[in-house]
Amino acid sequence: IKIKITNIDIPVAFASAFEGEIIRRKDMQVEFDGSRVDCAELVQTRSMDEVEDHKITVVGPDVDEMELGSKNPIAYVVEVAGKRMQPDFEPVIERKFHNYINCIEGVYHTGQRDMQRIRIGKEAYNAGFRIRHIGEVLYTQVKNEFEAVVDKCQVTVYTDPAECTRIRHEVAIPVFDKRDARLENLTDETVDVYYSCILCQAFSPSHVCVVTPERLGLCGAVSWLDAKATNELDPNGPCQIITKERPIDENLGSYEDVDEAVQKFSQGALEHVTLYSIMQDPMTSCGCFECICGIEPFSNGVVIANREYAGMTPLGMTFSEMASMTGGGVQTPGFMGHGKHFISSKKFMKAEGGIERIVWMPKELKETVAERLNKTAKELYGIDNFTDMIGDETNTTDPEELVAFLTEHNHPALSMDPMM
Ligand code: SF4
Ligand code: ZN
Repeated sequence: IKIKITNIDIPVAFASAFEGEIIRRKDMQVEFDGSRVDCAELVQTRSMDEVEDHKITVVGPDVDEMELGSKNPIAYVVEVAGKRMQPDFEPVIERKFHNYINCIEGVYHTGQRDMQRIRIGKEAYNAGFRIRHIGEVLYTQVKNEFEAVVDKCQVTVYTDPAECTRIRHEVAIPVFDKRDARLENLTDETVDVYYSCILCQAFSPSHVCVVTPERLGLCGAVSWLDAKATNELDPNGPCQIITKERPIDENLGSYEDVDEAVQKFSQGALEHVTLYSIMQDPMTSCGCFECICGIEPFSNGVVIANREYAGMTPLGMTFSEMASMTGGGVQTPGFMGHGKHFISSKKFMKAEGGIERIVWMPKELKETVAERLNKTAKELYGIDNFTDMIGDETNTTDPEELVAFLTEHNHPALSMDPMM
């Protein structure tokens, strides 16, 4: 094992011992929250002459200018250059930010892409921790851990609200969309291997994501291509190859190879995991899922809620309430954390009938996934405008009214086999 001495120019300690540290509301100076305001974290590849090594720029107010206990936007763009750098590595580097920022004493980070949440504790603030130190940490760690591909690195941290909005919507989201689109022509059947990801074990020690082309990691930030690039960059790192030579049941997506891998990487906590079922040995969830789906017994379908949605669902639970019974690396049949992109996948709970089971989701999420979801519904079942059949909070959050809505719209779930 290679042990690196990390010496970062910040006023608090930096060590993996702080990774699992949680900052409670009463102990926090300020927070940044991508589910409520515009946030983003992004790596961009540049040419050598476009990057000034170790340049850290802050655009916007610093922590001392933010109100105690307030929620603020933040966006950091890490520009890297190097002869061996490839755009394929960008998401891999980005996904490590979670770990880097968490290793700062008194600072907490969760989420990814444009959904991260950061808390800076009062103690860290009083010790002198400020916005540019986030840039210092990202700079040092990226140079440390990706020295094989990154020769120069500069970081811009935006806290100015208008700039955060611009970076999120005009820069980051188009990049994320482009990355997601690269996967479109890959299917689980056409690749020879899947990948494991255990990046989240600092928080959920027995959690293992199995990442396939049609099922990205539940954080939404690790696609099969990203897992592959992670493995190429660091063959002994968090993403390992899982062969798929010994299928047990193709419909459930169960394989002896997958079971062996999750047994090994969960240190024996998990024995069987299926790729395509929410009822039978579903994949575990850590804490950073973009969405949760859960069965809705009245309509014989599933409800999906995304992290940004703060309202009620027809399950009588909010997203946070659903999250409290889904996370932590345990299997909870009937509930499952997943990435947004997975909603339009042909493998979305395929064992239970697939996307036809989706009966309700928040309006905004429905609009985000509509184009792709409708395309999948047309291909799989010949249904036009499937999202029109799915309820949202503007129709109802009451389970009985939802059944009435679904009946009126002739939703296919009502005539499917019971899930339980
Ligand atoms: Fe990896 Fe899964 Fe965590 Fe995403 S949620 S970083 S895929 S372990
Ligand atoms: Zn996680």
